[in-house]
Amino acid sequence: MLRVTAIGALAAAVVVAGAVAGGESPPSAEAAAAKPPLKKKLIPYPKSRKRDMAGYSKRHYGHFKWRLGSPKLVVIHYAEAGSIGSIYNTFAPNHADPEFKEKPNVCSHFAVSAGGGIFKLVPTSTRCRHVVGLNHVAIGIEHVGFSDSDVLNRPAELNASLKLSQWLRCRFGIPVEGVIGHNESLGPLAAPYYKELDPRFKGQTHGDFDKASMDRYRSELQKLGSC
Ligand SMILES: [Zn+2]
Repeated sequence: MLRVTAIGALAAAVVVAGAVAGGESPPSAEAAAAKPPLKKKLIPYPKSRKRDMAGYSKRHYGHFKWRLGSPKLVVIHYAEAGSIGSIYNTFAPNHADPEFKEKPNVCSHFAVSAGGGIFKLVPTSTRCRHVVGLNHVAIGIEHVGFSDSDVLNRPAELNASLKLSQWLRCRFGIPVEGVIGHNESLGPLAAPYYKELDPRFKGQTHGDFDKASMDRYRSELQKLGSC
């Protein structure tokens, strides 16, 4: 029961936010795809880190490249962190990642705070390591929080996240189904783009944002309209 009530509150919050943005009438698709306010908080990404990213791409995808040319997916994460500062401090230093002991360090392109602030950490033209098998085609969005429901049940954070996803997917011609959770990285929506040459990495994923959570997220995203 509590869960149903939470979903109802969530839907109401999204509708209210839309009404505020668009006046009395529902927001047009054009308004829905508008660029949300972004706060720049770029992590250091010098030539050495680009070289490391290109080397990673060579080992895992077969080409020496750090640029993200034409993104096909937006991947949703929660950071297991309580603040944007904590996310920034995790991504900023370029040491080997703790999980696989490889450089460059992990990062995501954006991070959304509990209060709905959107922070740009890395340009979308640059690759980040945030999802095994898909870093050559995926933009990453981190969220402050420790569970899917932390994010889904905070209207300010969820609304900001949806606006960011809508803007990104419209900018790069990505369908709603191209906005996936980290936990869906081995699933059917990611399958057309999945590539992993290193057997140690093949089949790896994380628990954040499973299909059930993303079905809720995508149904809210759908309400923002077509591009
Ligand atoms: Zn993740």
